[in-house]
Amino acid sequence: MLQGDQVVEEFDQDDLDDDESFFQDIDMLQSQGINAADLKKLKQAGICTVKGVQMTTRKRLCTIKGISEAKMEKIKEACAKLEEGGFCTALEFADKRKAVFKLSTGSSELDKLVGGGIESMSITEVFGEFRSGKTQLSHTLCVSTQMPGSNGYAGGKVIFLDTENTFRPDRLRDIADRFGLDQSAVLDNVLYARAYTSEHQFELLDFVAAKFHEEPGVFKLLVVDSIMALFRVDFSGRGELADRQQKLAQMLSRLQKISEEFNVAVFITNQMTADPGATMSFQADPKKPVGGHILAHASTTRIALRKGRGELRIAKIYDSPNMPENEATFAITAGGIADGKE
Ligand code: ATP
Ligand code: MG
Repeated sequence: MLQGDQVVEEFDQDDLDDDESFFQDIDMLQSQGINAADLKKLKQAGICTVKGVQMTTRKRLCTIKGISEAKMEKIKEACAKLEEGGFCTALEFADKRKAVFKLSTGSSELDKLVGGGIESMSITEVFGEFRSGKTQLSHTLCVSTQMPGSNGYAGGKVIFLDTENTFRPDRLRDIADRFGLDQSAVLDNVLYARAYTSEHQFELLDFVAAKFHEEPGVFKLLVVDSIMALFRVDFSGRGELADRQQKLAQMLSRLQKISEEFNVAVFITNQMTADPGATMSFQADPKKPVGGHILAHASTTRIALRKGRGELRIAKIYDSPNMPENEATFAITAGGIADGKE
């Protein structure tokens, strides 16, 4: 019995060490004279780490209930003290980047195309017409993320935000079988939420941040399938376009910050303008993803999907500054995304 306890304690200590090397809990600000009640208010607003405070503007901090301007300044000051100015050498930065991991898509060809897999600390976007495999890829990642990978990646949990009501746990079961994982265990490791409006989608990110903070290092992937669907419903016409793009920019900025703050991969799917005339689009080319420049700049990696013969699909890197314009062919199978046989 005693031995068992000791083992548990050791595990906890390991978790803490890992955790500390990656982010600083906001409770550390108590040592700088910030009281626990104020820290609780920040946490309720989805700000759980020192980095999280630094990623939030003064203006937004002041909108949190109970945080006055004076308090806000004190909190900002306390964070600055802990972070020592925020500079590090390139060598130290390279060391931090060692924490970046890559998640397999289920197809080794597709993995190769994106430089080894879906990368943490950044946003990867796939877009393509209906049935091009965006949702199937999202499902496959929910399972492959749980598989230990090469270079020390231990596997982890997933949060799935569904805006189109196309998430199917039964698909995860089939994919789990293919990877040789226990079905229930796989489903238990995927936290699911359905978003009903673009506002709701944004609010859910507070919960996501809180969850990532509550179980540090446990979650490795956040899926949003799809990023634009609700925005396209909630904002219509040219008159609301500017407003839509502003809200979209805020959402994407939050996603990017979450990916860096908690070292997770963010995977988003996107639609294309099927009929440029109907969507008041200024894009002449109907093969473009929606979301405009805002989305183009937010995604680190953009992948265009198109249909091939039968269950085959072709992926192409879209507009990448540092990757060759290659293509990869993969297949949608009962066990999820896999290599295609040509
Ligand atoms: P949308 O834009 O409508 O959301 P999508 O890009 O998300 O489309 P998916 O739902 O990922 O498209 O892909 C649908 C394709 O996946 C279909 O061609 C379907 O045949 C295939 N598919 C779905 N389930 C299975 C399965 N169990 N086994 C094999 N193929 C499947
Ligand atoms: Mg879909």
